[in-house]
Amino acid sequence: MMFRFTLLSLLLLGASAASALDRESFSFTNYDLNLQIEPEQHRLGVRGKITLRNDSTTPQKIAVLQISSSLDWRSVKAGNKPLQFVSQPYTSDIDHTGGLSEAIVTLPAPVAPGGTIELEIAYEGVVLLDATRFTRIGMPEDAASGMDWDQIDAKFTAVRGTGYVAWYPIATEVANLSEVNSLVEVMGRWKTREAGSKMRLLIAPAGDDALSQIFFDGVRCSGPTFFEAIGTARKAQFDAPNCVSQSLRWDTPTLVVAKYQILERSAVEVRYLSGHDAAATNFADAAEKIAPFITDWFGPAREKAKTADLPNPQAAPFESGALLLTPLTSSDPKVAGLAAAHQLTHASFVSFRPWIEEGLAHFAQALYLEQQNGRRAALDYIGSHRSGFTEIETPAGLPRSEDEVNHSLVNTTSEELYRGKAMCVWWMLRDMVGEAALKKAIAAYRLEQDKEPSYMPRLIVAQSQRDLEWFFDDWVYRDRGLPDFKVESAFPRKTMTNSYMVTITVDNLGTAGAEVPITVKFAGGDTTKRLEVRAKSKGVIRIEVPAAPQEIIVNDGSVPESDMANNTFKLEMVEK
Ligand SMILES: [Zn+2]
Repeated sequence: MMFRFTLLSLLLLGASAASALDRESFSFTNYDLNLQIEPEQHRLGVRGKITLRNDSTTPQKIAVLQISSSLDWRSVKAGNKPLQFVSQPYTSDIDHTGGLSEAIVTLPAPVAPGGTIELEIAYEGVVLLDATRFTRIGMPEDAASGMDWDQIDAKFTAVRGTGYVAWYPIATEVANLSEVNSLVEVMGRWKTREAGSKMRLLIAPAGDDALSQIFFDGVRCSGPTFFEAIGTARKAQFDAPNCVSQSLRWDTPTLVVAKYQILERSAVEVRYLSGHDAAATNFADAAEKIAPFITDWFGPAREKAKTADLPNPQAAPFESGALLLTPLTSSDPKVAGLAAAHQLTHASFVSFRPWIEEGLAHFAQALYLEQQNGRRAALDYIGSHRSGFTEIETPAGLPRSEDEVNHSLVNTTSEELYRGKAMCVWWMLRDMVGEAALKKAIAAYRLEQDKEPSYMPRLIVAQSQRDLEWFFDDWVYRDRGLPDFKVESAFPRKTMTNSYMVTITVDNLGTAGAEVPITVKFAGGDTTKRLEVRAKSKGVIRIEVPAAPQEIIVNDGSVPESDMANNTFKLEMVEK
């Protein structure tokens, strides 16, 4: 009888799996997990409870639970009763193995929309170095393992969460790296559903001395989130009291077990592997040096910035809030300063809006370069990050309707936009409203008051007393593409005092407006003024220079533009 029931459910489930399995109907609101880690065997064993909430509009009788394909489901229970489930592989690039182990679970009763159910779960397996998802789309082995460096190993253990290793259960539709934006969109939906969920971990590593080597980060907490082992207890618990039940960051729960040495400074804590003392000191020094500058801009640190070493020198750095995992190999203070500027900004300023949180952290890097080497160095840095998003921006003038909304800074899930383009937007805002006003606006930001996308823009407008609605419309609320400036005409006139007044007409052929610097070069120097030119409009400015003007340059590189080739205008003066 039992057998027949199982077989029947298998058949029914098989049919529904092929047709209409809604993998994203449930959100996971709570994780309470006990982890057993055996680094020598690369093994992970998990027992615990999860709470699912039906976020769809119809009752759900089936729940899909996904873990990395190198892990296997052992049991799923509700109220101590085992539930029927079918385990099947599911190809998806959301996991480093390129696949997931799915449990398709028949719930004891349908869960109504908005209703929740608690499940007791058990799964185990191994987490090995695996970059299948990248190699199968043609990425060379070395580059691929530089991206996917997660593993459980006696020498070094690091497992990042969703998007890298599904070491805790998730439920997502297929993500495919060979399709543009597929992974980004699946991740975006998952993080939105996961926002506000809580995680509690009990970690029991094999071996007595292993406790001191564990740390954990990524749960949404307002204070220090590092896992700290206490005394000689066999089990250590991560249960930070200051983790609030809302999403503060788009963090990725990350677990690291390593024999780190620790370098403590007031602004930063650096965990490094043996032999990397010099690079660790270099990083800590750079962070200490830049900390007052970052505090001045973004407020006092809410938590200590934490940096941890990665053994693979080719490993791509990974950030999660104020935690930075990066190979500590460089002894170049400038490289360290650039990384520290970004990380310390995260330690000071928190927003759940990526264009604010990441945009400001990248903006801080440009500010740091400007402070060190002047405006040109900062603009070169901004320029080097521009190609990433100018490719995304469709050529000026083409209709894009829904892209205007989807690609806007307030909605986008594209890193190029919420990092690169947002950095430019903050830089332009600083140029437009001035440093003092922008600092005040940033200081006035309160996470808990950020209820709508216009909150931060309104803070800036309040400090600047300027009409900036057009700017936020073109750059933040909408994606209106980029400006394209061109000097249409320039007429110099000699004044009574033997200086020259140049009347310059600038045409913006592009679909976004901006305030742009106009520079008039003359023998022995140049003069720069700023001019606001709205999309598909012209602007006129008069600039006085002490000698005959020779050349006019619109845009010093601080405003992203679709075409920079038409930005200079040569003047041939006929001297009388
Ligand atoms: Zn960041």
